[in-house]
Amino acid sequence: QQQVAESLYILNAFAQKFFAQQLFETEEGGNIALSYLEERGFTHETLHKFQVGYNPQARDVFAKHALQHQFSEEVLLKSGLVVNRYEELADNYRNRIIFPVHNNSGKIIGFGARVIGKADKAPKYINTPENELYIKSKILYGLYFARQAIDRSDECLLVEGYTDVISLAQAGVENVVASGGTSLTTDQLRLIKKYTNNLTIVYDGDAAGVKAALRGLDMALEESLNVQLVLIPDKEDPDSYVRLVGAQGFKDFVAENKKDFILFQLEVMLKEAGNDVNRKNEVVNHIAETISRINKAEDFTKQQEYIRQSVSILKIDESGFTNLVNKFI
Ligand code: ATP
Ligand code: MN
Ligand code: MN
Ligand code: MN
Repeated sequence: QQQVAESLYILNAFAQKFFAQQLFETEEGGNIALSYLEERGFTHETLHKFQVGYNPQARDVFAKHALQHQFSEEVLLKSGLVVNRYEELADNYRNRIIFPVHNNSGKIIGFGARVIGKADKAPKYINTPENELYIKSKILYGLYFARQAIDRSDECLLVEGYTDVISLAQAGVENVVASGGTSLTTDQLRLIKKYTNNLTIVYDGDAAGVKAALRGLDMALEESLNVQLVLIPDKEDPDSYVRLVGAQGFKDFVAENKKDFILFQLEVMLKEAGNDVNRKNEVVNHIAETISRINKAEDFTKQQEYIRQSVSILKIDESGFTNLVNKFI
């Protein structure tokens, strides 16, 4: 197994080199992929830093290149770079932009591959399948590049996508990692906790973004992280928004619109409940349970503060609510 992992590392590094060459040094890459990335505002410096590449249109250029260099069919398939199509090897990421995913020592463990332009029929992104190196639940895209900045600023911004991380880094906001749009895992939260206790979730303001953000809440509380939430307005995401308002505008927006996660959830649910007494009761119960998840031994003061703020928002009795919270522990 150690050997499989080692061959995958070697193959991924080999593939990255090939894809970068295709992007920067071929006519096809220049015309189709580099021009698209330039139009989106990415500089060559940024693309080099994140080791972005391009897998050409032809059915198996990469597969052939790798076979010529003695990579085994087995490793090629396992890497997800190559698939079996009609009993022949073919490139899995044909005609896509390639975003390598790095581990904490900067080695490539997998890739995200994006269609160029609008994603009409094909899925917008294809990611490496789970293998010895690529274990989705333990990956935060961009952490390798963001670690020092997270440490320095004592805050980690969590965004949804590859391009959010890259765009923000280019604008000088470097303490950013991405979850890939899925709900957070305990392993991912523990990775963040190595560098900071302050997590700021910066998700798209659409319904999917809010839902994805809320899914991570309970676990984050159990890991006793301070979780703040910012939703990017309208149809924007962090990438498009930072282009719109600039780095300072983005930082200001985040600072001014950061909401405490628990209180945010309370407000969303309360608004939905309206005047319905039963539903309001459900909200009270739900928030009590959420607050009960805060690790009491570590964060007693924090828990007390949430209880105070919640009863004030809910306009209910404090001692009764405290009892309710304690029931869940
Ligand atoms: P872009 O700016 O290039 O359109 P994005 O990151 O804004 O990319 P979103 O649609 O907001 O794209 O998705 C957020 C993240 O979710 C992506 O970066 C990717 O990691 C993941 N993702 C999106 N679509 C898919 C898909 N079809 N399959 C797997 N992962 C996906
Ligand atoms: Mn979205
Ligand atoms: Mn997005
Ligand atoms: Mn985007």
